[in-house]
Amino acid sequence: MATASSDRSVRPLGNKRTNGRLLIETAGLVKTYGLGKVAVQALRGVDLRVGAGEFVAVMGPSGSGKSTLMNILGCLDRPTSGTYALDGDDVSRLNRQELAAVRNRRIGFVFQSYNLLGRLTAVKNVQLPLLYNADQTLSDEECERKALEVLDSVGLADRAGHRPNELSGGQQQRVAIARALVNSPSLILADEPTGNLDTRASEEILDLLCQLHDRGVTVVMVTHEPGIARYAGRVIDLLDGLVSSDHQNGPTSRRSKI
Ligand code: ADP
Ligand code: MG
Repeated sequence: MATASSDRSVRPLGNKRTNGRLLIETAGLVKTYGLGKVAVQALRGVDLRVGAGEFVAVMGPSGSGKSTLMNILGCLDRPTSGTYALDGDDVSRLNRQELAAVRNRRIGFVFQSYNLLGRLTAVKNVQLPLLYNADQTLSDEECERKALEVLDSVGLADRAGHRPNELSGGQQQRVAIARALVNSPSLILADEPTGNLDTRASEEILDLLCQLHDRGVTVVMVTHEPGIARYAGRVIDLLDGLVSSDHQNGPTSRRSKI
């Protein structure tokens, strides 16, 4: 009979840089919204292992539970039952404040609709996670310099003083990625990051995610477009709140044009 540990030893973990270290390990993740007759079981027992350094695409039809899963992996929400270990730490029972701290320091989240603060300039948006990070001891000027550096790394140094409504969709998403990166997280979660973008801007965002992956960041990205999933090394399909398939992409498939 297969045990959990023998199962783990035969399980491919993406690429050789993972060293077998699991960054994400969920077991029996269930998420139920609402109660009684109106209860919706969005996740019905998801077992998922993602090694450090992998680039994973999560696919599946609308309503299959992709965002619910991402919100739990991103410590934005808690499962109804089941466990979630992030880099070996069980985070599934933390309270809201503890989850916020884990999220702030270890996870960068990128949303389809960017979620930037409209009142703030690009550089101020990128600085926000630094302000909420109790571990960092940078002065105000150092925070700004760091935010500018990260904006520069996504090609937007010259837009630092612009507000979101003065930027294109692709530029706004690059600001959001810079914001996700500013605390140097080990995990980037992106929920349909190119869903609102045209083909050219989508390719820029995907190239950026590939660069992060090349630098050793673990990336989990939701998409419903196969052409976008091909950028990832591994594709997981969700159906009705369960993993319906999990396979590696061939080496030549990466970065093919959408
Ligand atoms: P996907 O991202 O794959 O489209 P979701 O995770 O958003 O799917 O949703 C999965 C299921 O859970 C859907 O049936 C959806 O209607 C339901 N759902 C999602 N969020 C909520 C919520 N906050 N309250 C109630 N039902 C929800
Ligand atoms: Mg969704």
